[in-house]
Amino acid sequence: MHLILFGSPGVGKGTQAKILSSKLGIPHISTGDILRTAVKEQTALGIKALKIMSSGELVSDEIMIGIIREALTDQKCSNGFILDGFPRTLAQATAFDELLRELNIMGKIFLVSLMTNEEELILRLTNRRACSKCQEIFNYHEIKDKDVCPNCGAINSFYHRSDDKEEVIRNRFKIFQSATFPLLEHYEKMGKVISVDGFQPVEKVTEDILNYLAMKSGKKIAISA
Ligand code: AMP
Repeated sequence: MHLILFGSPGVGKGTQAKILSSKLGIPHISTGDILRTAVKEQTALGIKALKIMSSGELVSDEIMIGIIREALTDQKCSNGFILDGFPRTLAQATAFDELLRELNIMGKIFLVSLMTNEEELILRLTNRRACSKCQEIFNYHEIKDKDVCPNCGAINSFYHRSDDKEEVIRNRFKIFQSATFPLLEHYEKMGKVISVDGFQPVEKVTEDILNYLAMKSGKKIAISA
């Protein structure tokens, strides 16, 4: 299975990608996580990306396309992948389509579009906290009295991502609408889009995605857990 998870910031792409990755046994490739790791490790890429990410702007297409080419040509992606956060511009989508043709998997790709309501998402994002060790996302109300990350056991590791502040979020939405949203039409024209209501409970979103994928691909989907 080769999937792109698509939708506004905060719609739950990361959450669904992690669940689907474990159910389908294919890797979750999050370009945001790759960049955040580079920032944490203070690599040349991280130093360059930090300022751009903190303002909610997009890292250059050239850098992102290079990151994705390296990730998808890795052996661990040979049976499929779940992309979260890429492609985000038409230039990225065009380069990505070329890569898919080169890897002979253009026929296998689907884009799962998670649909939402902007104001609700802003509330969800401003309440979002991440663990600096495992990158797991929590709602502030879930962890406000906790010192230990329920996912990895790290102590005092919760932080508010600088790109989850309200002003930055509004900028990320603006960029999503102008640069990223047009990709939906690009993949709709190719008959690759599956649309799911992203406001349902997490388990229902996963169930809908798996059902639509089975319908669209005409295949029974093997689920490991
Ligand atoms: P995310 O975790 O996917 O919301 O990504 C966090 C930030 O990383 C974004 O706001 C961008 O600054 C940067 N980023 C992640 N993926 C991309 C991409 N495909 N193109 C450009 N910038 C990206």
